[in-house]
Amino acid sequence: MLVVMKRDATKAEIDGVVQRIADLGLSAIPLPGAERTAIGTFGVAAREYADQLESLPGVAEIVLVSRPFKLSSREVHPEDSIVRIADVAIGNGQPLAVIAGPCSVESREQTIATAQAVRAAGASLLRGGAYKPSTSPYHFRGLGASGLELLSEARAVTGLGVVTEVLTPADVELVSSRADCLQIGARNMQNFALLDACGEQPKPVLLKRGMSATVEELLLSAEYILAKGNQNVILCERGIRTFERYTRNTFDINAIPLLKKLSHLPVVADPSHGTGKWYLVAPVALAAVAAGADGLLIEVHPSPDHALKDGFQSLTFGNFEALMRMLPAVAAAVGRPVAATV
Ligand code: PEP
Ligand code: MN
Repeated sequence: MLVVMKRDATKAEIDGVVQRIADLGLSAIPLPGAERTAIGTFGVAAREYADQLESLPGVAEIVLVSRPFKLSSREVHPEDSIVRIADVAIGNGQPLAVIAGPCSVESREQTIATAQAVRAAGASLLRGGAYKPSTSPYHFRGLGASGLELLSEARAVTGLGVVTEVLTPADVELVSSRADCLQIGARNMQNFALLDACGEQPKPVLLKRGMSATVEELLLSAEYILAKGNQNVILCERGIRTFERYTRNTFDINAIPLLKKLSHLPVVADPSHGTGKWYLVAPVALAAVAAGADGLLIEVHPSPDHALKDGFQSLTFGNFEALMRMLPAVAAAVGRPVAATV
């Protein structure tokens, strides 16, 4: 349920409503908007108190929210949200953000060289995994804490903000202290303890769709983070598992405009994992931009045939530059520029 305040409601009136909701044993999350504040009101008995709350000073109306996801829905928050990673604003028509870098941090040379190359080509943020989820326990699982230090070095050298994955609640504090944005990977989309922990720390969260998750399940996972008080969530479509085996996953292009219709949260596309083939990455990236994505997540490696993970879907520096040269025309066709690196 949403308690919508009048445009001219005072802070004291808003605080009074929040206090009354708490006194009723419900949880209240104020959602300041451009024009007025709404107060998300949650709890099994919330609807029973609708009349009482509507009579409080400063209240304009009560809106019963019909979606199972609430804080992530447009019903609760009609305007597009902007989420900032370091100095890059994503969503609500902001310039397209390109988050690029290796699947995994492998070494200082590989990380710094890739960061410099993607920056020179126009990427606005660096990605790279220090903690890697791995289907097989015998495969590379990341450099861990020393990988985080290499990412910090890459940030110092290039000025690019860093997006990196966190695998477990126990690592959230450390990763949050080093990264500019925490990635929750597809395999952890429904790791509810991890979602809670990311909701309780201040850095933005890039939440990837699970490989067999519905759009509604993705939004319910985002809800966990939002309900803990962290409103800076970016959704990521990264392909889903289907019967098609020529590609690693089937990139769900529908999900982009659908998520943007259902939710105010920014949506980014990951055509690297979405296709699994380097030669499909650029066309699917362009399609995602045309479909309204607010940003892209692209895997880039200095030597994909030597990559410890995801080499076949990684772009060489040259292929990444070529993609970056193609982006502005498609982005302009749907009315948005590409974020410029300074
Ligand atoms: C990744 O971003 O490298 C990754 C492991 O992605 P996903 O969780 O989408 O498989
Ligand atoms: Mn990867």
